[in-house]
Amino acid sequence: MMTAPNKRWKKYHAFLARGDWHVHSRWSNDAQGSIADYCRQARANGLRLIAFTEHVRRKIEFDFRQFSADVDAARQAFPDLVILKGCEAKVLNVAGEIDASDHVLEQCDVVIGSFHSFADPSQYIPALRNMLRNPIVDIWGILLSIASSMASRLTPRCSKAWSICAWNTRC
Ligand SMILES: [Zn+2]
Repeated sequence: MMTAPNKRWKKYHAFLARGDWHVHSRWSNDAQGSIADYCRQARANGLRLIAFTEHVRRKIEFDFRQFSADVDAARQAFPDLVILKGCEAKVLNVAGEIDASDHVLEQCDVVIGSFHSFADPSQYIPALRNMLRNPIVDIWGILLSIASSMASRLTPRCSKAWSICAWNTRC
């Protein structure tokens, strides 16, 4: 039997139910609000962890090092919060590779893999399995968006997907 990969998010396991693990700030092209704005709100909501998972591509549209510096400043300003640097990238292929550069991934504490669309539905389950097994991917993002559009095809196979998720979350 294969050993479950040692995913980076497990380091923050204690905050699983007391964190927001999928937040986009204005570094992403579809969000508003600064890193500090979200940290203030996280504190007001009683959260202990907030993960900034900005949208990226291999051809990234912003300087990830500046984003990283922004998070470093927030860590100084909000020492009571655990603030993670992260990204969200789409799954590219059946091998479960994601659309993010090594340069970005090595700066991340947490990484989300998402299916925004997938060209060949018959390859969705193997791509999902390989994405979940990809050691660099911590979280399956927006899991219901494409899955619900393919529900009739996926339902008989969902238990397989959930068992892979359970395998990934073993600590
Ligand atoms: Zn997102």
